[in-house]
Amino acid sequence: MTQTSLEGSFGCPADLDVPQNPSGFSRFGFGPELLKALEAIGYQEPSPIQSAAIPELMLGRDLVGQAQTGTGKTAAFALPMLAALDPDQRKPQVLVLAPTRELAMQVAEAFNSYAVHLDGVRTLAIYGGADFRDQIHHLRRGVQIVVGTPGRVMDHMRQGTLDLSALRALVLDEADEMLRMGFIDDVEWVLEQLPTQRQVVLFSATMPTEIRRISQKYLNSPAEITIRPKAADSGRIRQRYLTVNGPQKIAALERVLEAERSEATIIFARTKAITLTVAESLEQHGYDVAVLNGDVPQAQRERTIDRLRKGQVDVLVATDVAARGLDVERISLVINYDVPFDSEAYVHRIGRTGRAGRSGEAILFLTPRERRFLGGLERAVGRPIEPMEVPSNATINQNRLDRLRSRLTTAAGASSCQPEERALLSEMVQRVAQELDCSGEALALAALELVLAGKPLLLQGEESFAMPRQASMGERSSAARNTRGERPMQARALEADMERFRIELGWRDRIKPGNIVGAIANETGLAGKAIGRIQIFDTHSTVDLPQGMPPDVFEGLRQLRVLNKPLQISRLQG
Ligand code: ADP
Ligand code: MG
Repeated sequence: MTQTSLEGSFGCPADLDVPQNPSGFSRFGFGPELLKALEAIGYQEPSPIQSAAIPELMLGRDLVGQAQTGTGKTAAFALPMLAALDPDQRKPQVLVLAPTRELAMQVAEAFNSYAVHLDGVRTLAIYGGADFRDQIHHLRRGVQIVVGTPGRVMDHMRQGTLDLSALRALVLDEADEMLRMGFIDDVEWVLEQLPTQRQVVLFSATMPTEIRRISQKYLNSPAEITIRPKAADSGRIRQRYLTVNGPQKIAALERVLEAERSEATIIFARTKAITLTVAESLEQHGYDVAVLNGDVPQAQRERTIDRLRKGQVDVLVATDVAARGLDVERISLVINYDVPFDSEAYVHRIGRTGRAGRSGEAILFLTPRERRFLGGLERAVGRPIEPMEVPSNATINQNRLDRLRSRLTTAAGASSCQPEERALLSEMVQRVAQELDCSGEALALAALELVLAGKPLLLQGEESFAMPRQASMGERSSAARNTRGERPMQARALEADMERFRIELGWRDRIKPGNIVGAIANETGLAGKAIGRIQIFDTHSTVDLPQGMPPDVFEGLRQLRVLNKPLQISRLQG
C-alpha cells in the first residue's frame, strides 16, 4: 500500500522540490489527442490530486483519492481512464457510479470534453428519469464509458442491455456517499457482477474513517492519496454563521440575499417542503429562483442546472441532492438555510463555491439551539466559522444605492439600445422636458424612479427582530421574566405580526407562563422576548407567537410536552 499525503491547490504543484515539467499534462505520457483537448479547455497544470493520482491510475492500480471540493478530481480519474482505453473494443470498459443524476451528467460531459479528439470513443450517461429506450439505443451502438447512478445502471445490467464483461475499471465518485447505507448494497451488487480482474477507484472530498475501513474490502492494495489543503487554500471559502430564531429565518434570508453581492447563490434546505416554502417566499419578494429537489422531474432538473450555469437564474433552493459534486463556476455564495445533517454534508455543500481556485462565501443559519453543532463543523473544516449579524437596514440600503448607482453608471457608459431606438428615446426626453418645462436632472430622477418600479428604494422595516441573540440560558430566563412581568394576564387583542395559538393546558394543570415560554423557546429557538402574550384560562391557555412559523417548527411544537403533559398546540383562527 502506498500512502501519499500532499499539500497543494490549483497551479501550485504539491511537490515543489521536484523540478517542474513545463509541459504540464504531457508528463503523464498522454497521447496528442488528449493533450490537445486539455489545452483547448485551458487546463495548463495538473492540480495536486491529478499529479498524484494519474500516474498510479495509469499503472492500473486501485486507488483511494481524497482532495478538497473543486480541485479537479473528475479529470484525475477521467484522463487516465481515457488514456488507457481501447477504442476498437466497443463494449463498456469504464463504469463510473455517482450519487445523483446531475452529477452523472456532469461527469459524462467532462469525459466528452476530454475525449473530443479521440475518434470512436463514446461516453453515455445512464440515470433514472431519462428515456430507457434511448439509453438502450446508445448502448447498442457501442460505448466505452458509462457514467450512471446505481439504480438505472442495475436496471440495464439485469435486462442484459449493459454488458460489463469487458469492464476494466469501476470508479466511485463521491465514494464515501456511495459506500453509505443508501447505496452500498447496490454498489456491492454491481461489483459482484464485474470481471474479477478490474481496477477499483474511489474519489471523494470526505472519507470518514469508518467508510475508509469498509472500502478496503473492495480494493486490492490500493494507492492511497490524500491532498491536505494548504493553509491559504482553506481560506478560499469564507465561512460565517448567523444565529437566527426559527420563525425569522426567511426574513433573515432575504436580508442576507440583499446584502451579499453574489453572482449566483445556492440555498440548502433540509426537506423538499422547505425548499418550496423558501422559494415561494423569495419569489414573492421579486427573486427569480429555481428549486432542485428529488421531486422535481428529471428534465426540469437538467434545465435548472443549465439555466443556473448560463446565468438565467441566480438563486437555487435545493436539498442535498445538489450538495455533492455540482460544478457551477458562477456560484459565489452558499447559504445553509438549514443546518446540514453531518459535517461531511457541510463540507460538500460549501464546496459548491470556490471551485478551481476561485473564492467563495458560505453562510450557515443556526437557531440558538443549533449553536451546539458549530464546534463539530469547525473541526471538520479545520478553521473557525466567523459569526455575522443579520444585515441591518443601513447595510441593505447602502447596497441598494450602490447597485442602482452602478447600473446607472453602466447604462450611461454604454447604451444597450439600437441607434434608432436611442434616437427615439432622446426625442421623447426632449419633448417631455419642453412640455413640462423641466430640467434634464428632473427627468433623470423620474427615469430612476421608473426603474424602481414602485418598490421603495429604502428598507425601513423593523430590523431588531432577526438580530442574533445569545443562546445562553441566562438571557432566555431573564427574557421569560420580562414576558411575565410586562404582560398582565388579561384577555387582549392580538398584536400585529403575531399569531395566536391554543394550548390544552391551563390553571387546572398548574401551568405557569414561565413553563410555556421556557418550553417554546427551547423547542423553537425563539428568544423569550419574541414570544408574545400568554393567557392562562382554566383548562387551556393561549400564546402569541411571531407569524410565519415554518411547518416543521410547528410540527416540533406539536410533539412538545410541558409538565409531563402534551401541549397539544393548535392554531386559533382569526
Ligand atoms: P472536484 O470533483 O474535485 O470537486 P471537479 O472535477 O468538478 O472538482 O473540478 C472543478 C473545476 O476545476 C472544474 O470546472 C474543472 O473543469 C476544473 N479543472 C479541473 N482540473 C483542472 C486543471 N488542471 N486546471 C484548471 N482547471 C481544472
Ligand atoms: Mg467531483
